[in-house]
Amino acid sequence: ALEVHDVHKWYGTHRVLDGIDLTVRPGEVTVVIGPSGSGKSTLLRVVNHLEKPEIGHVSVGGELIGVRRGSGGRLKELSERAILAQRSRIGFVFQNFNLFPHLTVLDNVAAAPVATGRLPRTEARALARELLTRVGLEDRTDAYPRQLSGGQQQRVAIARALALRPGIILFDEPTSALDPELVGEVLSVIKDLASSGTTLLIVTHEIGFAREVADRIVFIDGGRIVEQGPPAEVLDHPRHERTRDFLGKVL
Ligand code: ATP
Ligand code: MG
Repeated sequence: ALEVHDVHKWYGTHRVLDGIDLTVRPGEVTVVIGPSGSGKSTLLRVVNHLEKPEIGHVSVGGELIGVRRGSGGRLKELSERAILAQRSRIGFVFQNFNLFPHLTVLDNVAAAPVATGRLPRTEARALARELLTRVGLEDRTDAYPRQLSGGQQQRVAIARALALRPGIILFDEPTSALDPELVGEVLSVIKDLASSGTTLLIVTHEIGFAREVADRIVFIDGGRIVEQGPPAEVLDHPRHERTRDFLGKVL
């Protein structure tokens, strides 16, 4: 499970996360929605310890992320190396794909298991082939990222995240940089992951997709969780004015 416990994050005097508590159970798909600037990306970045919370902590599978308990229970920062090792167990798919431009599709997927010492090169490449087949790109393994459409690049990015067999995958608006006709192919890969029991935490503005894929929807505004629940509750019978307002604008 992912557990976010009382996380506060601020920049100067600007509170970006203001006491976030969130649990994502194994196999559960949680979708985070909310207005621009409400703290959604920051929340994902805190989970991965790309940002350090001023207060609170995150754990994945019972293990604290980025910190350890020192004497007297105070939290101390882990070494950079230990943080990188933890990060490699948490998949992250970005809006802009972030593939390595100088590596082929196959090597983009095979690189991390080799670099982290988890698999020898031959096995990593075999796994990469298997994952690329799963996302429908078995015939593009030798292409370079620039030769692919945005939707194909994003599917490579998903295969790459899967290659580290992460306990959870975080998605930050995985389709918002895509042309409309390419959105569906990426969403359908994410739906497959969801139905195969992968634990997912997804930020998206695609409300129809959220409704289909989410076990739980979390609505964030001003760095706080305003409400959360199954799609049929939050999307169809929101309890808060702010949720109704937001849905009125995006639906
Ligand atoms: P969007 O839907 O537009 O992606 P978001 O919900 O992901 O928005 P965040 O990117 O988490 O929002 O940003 C939340 C707030 O924190 C914004 O007001 C943003 O300007 C601010 N912010 C984010 N990163 C930094 C930073 N490194 N330094 C200062 N302010 C930041
Ligand atoms: Mg964002």
